[in-house]
Amino acid sequence: MSAAPSGGLLVLVGTPIGNLSDLSGRAREALATAALIACEDTRRTGRLLSLLGLDKRPLLRLDDHTELSNGAVVLERLARGETVAVVSDAGLPGISDPGERLVAAAGAAGHRVEVGPGPSAVLTALVGSGLATARFCFEGFLPRRQAARLAQLAELRDERRTMVFYESPHRLAPALTDLAAAFGPERRVVVARELTKLHEQWWRGTLAGAAAWAATESPKGEFVVVVAGAEPPPAPSDDELEREVAAGLATGASVKDVAAEIAARRDVPRRTVYDVALRLKRG
Ligand code: SAM
Repeated sequence: MSAAPSGGLLVLVGTPIGNLSDLSGRAREALATAALIACEDTRRTGRLLSLLGLDKRPLLRLDDHTELSNGAVVLERLARGETVAVVSDAGLPGISDPGERLVAAAGAAGHRVEVGPGPSAVLTALVGSGLATARFCFEGFLPRRQAARLAQLAELRDERRTMVFYESPHRLAPALTDLAAAFGPERRVVVARELTKLHEQWWRGTLAGAAAWAATESPKGEFVVVVAGAEPPPAPSDDELEREVAAGLATGASVKDVAAEIAARRDVPRRTVYDVALRLKRG
């Protein structure tokens, strides 16, 4: 009786975003030994493998068009107990690149998932930006249509975390103009260009300055835009706080709920608001 096949292993492999030397030893090993390498573009990954001295490795195209059909092939191979590596054209699969759905499907089918971490433009730009790194959010690519872009940016206007965006060269100037309109011209921004490559550049300044720079110089290459989060609103005076708490209590909300809502919105310790609310409630 043959043993039941043990589950397969899906390995997400980070590849360089510009500098071949950034490929890790573990990544090379995974690419050298996997039964199959799923990739966005077989020619591009073929070139990378060739540079690594790994010719003739079995490749399977897995991009947005083939994810469904070839994703099924990957799952079959995993079901046979094989190891399948997944790479994107550059950086980490799943970060503005295919990978997420395959990981979910492999996990749901009970296969092991591992990550061979590697470079990714989002973290590379963030840590080099000099902007706050303690809390940040990744927004990927903004919508192409300006109306949708402005609507998304309006939602982010009060976002306090550092925000990281990917942008294509021909949309960089309009995106920076819209960012300046949505967040104000003085908000700090760092535009990271051609990271890890020969012409790596860090443009640092204000959104208005960046929009003017991008419009006049039309810089080429790949870009990450890192934008400082919104400043916290000024602390309310004692009178303002009392008025807001009184208005909150007048709606019939509980002392606890009023304290929580105002503390979060005004960035005031919850205990401070709670004490004011309790005092007003007791008259
Ligand atoms: N999966 C990749 C990662 O982990 O970063 C991102 C893929 S996404 C399709 C490509 C975008 O990432 C580019 O348009 C650019 O915004 C950003 N990017 C990738 N490589 C970059 C580089 N070397 N310098 C600056 N931005 C880069």
